[in-house]
Amino acid sequence: MSENKINLKSNWDLAPSLESTSHINLKKKYDLFIGGKWVKPSSGKYFDTNNPATEEKLASIANANKKDVDMAVKAARKAYDTTWSKLSGKERGKYIFRIARIIQERAKELAVVETLDGGKPIRESRDIDIPLAANHFFYYAGWADKLEYAFPNRNPKSLGVAGQITPWNFPLLMAAWKIAPALACGNTVVLKPAETTSLTTLLLAEICEQAGLPAGVVNVVTGAGDVGAEIVNHDGIDKIAFTGSTGVGKIIQKAISGTDKKATLELGGKAANIVFEDAPLDQAVEGIINGIFFNQGHVCCAGSRLLVQESVYDVVLRKLKDRMESLIVGNPLDKNTDIGAINSKSQLDTINHYIKLGKEEGAEIYQPEGKLEKKGYWCKPTLFTGVAQSNRIVQEEIFGPVLAIQTFRTIEEAITKANNTPYGLSAGVWTDKGSKIFNVTSQLRAGIVWANTFNKFDPTSPFGGYKESGFGREGGLHGLEAYLEFEN
Ligand code: ADP
Repeated sequence: MSENKINLKSNWDLAPSLESTSHINLKKKYDLFIGGKWVKPSSGKYFDTNNPATEEKLASIANANKKDVDMAVKAARKAYDTTWSKLSGKERGKYIFRIARIIQERAKELAVVETLDGGKPIRESRDIDIPLAANHFFYYAGWADKLEYAFPNRNPKSLGVAGQITPWNFPLLMAAWKIAPALACGNTVVLKPAETTSLTTLLLAEICEQAGLPAGVVNVVTGAGDVGAEIVNHDGIDKIAFTGSTGVGKIIQKAISGTDKKATLELGGKAANIVFEDAPLDQAVEGIINGIFFNQGHVCCAGSRLLVQESVYDVVLRKLKDRMESLIVGNPLDKNTDIGAINSKSQLDTINHYIKLGKEEGAEIYQPEGKLEKKGYWCKPTLFTGVAQSNRIVQEEIFGPVLAIQTFRTIEEAITKANNTPYGLSAGVWTDKGSKIFNVTSQLRAGIVWANTFNKFDPTSPFGGYKESGFGREGGLHGLEAYLEFEN
């Protein structure tokens, strides 16, 4: 597969610019990483991980069960009691720093594997996922010996063993968000990646080995939701850090109620990008495109709703459609590709279900023309106009490249509409006026609000939601606090 099939508006044909895979040496089979060793799953079972762009198998992944999770939690407890909680912050920081450096050294390999396993464009894994993952480790390495300064007079203490469960949209980055602060605070970890994208987390386990991290400080168990549930329900876990769907978040919250397990849950979103008539419209259109089509819309903070002030609606819509026609959907390994493969068949089915639903709800659909590859999981960038606030495509998370547009007249109407979903993860405001930014952002019920930009991440900046988007924050000092308890 080398052709990019959708790219109609462009007057030139971009020659394929494929990232090489010659440096990638995937093993045929990946075992569990428990107590510093690669361990066969006690069931003897493995499952396939596939490339969603070609549907070809990449490797076999160990399918953990209750017994393996128990072994992993015990290994993490032992490492916590005997080694990690006894090390000084300065020593812990050195290990975390080393992990960051090795991620940088192996960046090209990690980026290609992330793209092969997850379907995201190589431009994103190379420029966003991998550098940000390294930055998270660098950032938290710096805090490891400064916890007393971060939380003065509060006597911070580690929690113990953290159970961490990550989703498939940013596999390595989500593992970094979880592992780096946990280790900096002196906790040990049992992490389960999502079943469709385990590979870079397993490479991260290799990196922990390479960095000489003491055995059992980081353990990786692979498998589906049942393995995640075993982690959540294990008595030896002190804290759960979960990123994923709101549905599973609710199951987890129920499971841990009545226990003294701490939790941070980062769940779904339905972010609104609000464009005022005084906004720099070309930049706004780029931001909107980036906000929803970036990573195929597989982003919990994706700008999946657009609220445009009525006076500029026609011009924004025209610019948006023009820009959508020049987007390249195709081979994720091609550096020209804007929209890669949908992560799995089941996610593609979900997205197509919502597209059908949007039409049934009476909304008007726009998609660029052109044919998609037959093999692999693909979705055209999709726009819905003429939607109502109560439509399911406006209220529910689709997790795909699907944008619903509404209009507004006044600031109050924009804020009411933006806040009117069960979610509250992120939002965007586009205007030339600084005072309007402060006015609007202070009234939006969202954990992250971007002004005149979208989808920008930084390790120093906390990330998390309101309402059904979860609770707790990752990143920044807030991210440290979530892995500590305090005497004062
Ligand atoms: P998505 O719908 O985006 O795939 P999920 O919430 O289903 O998101 O998955 C996110 C992560 O949670 C994955 O690692 C998945 O295996 C895990 N998971 C799924 N169900 C459960 C559960 N009941 N308990 C714990 N983890 C789960």
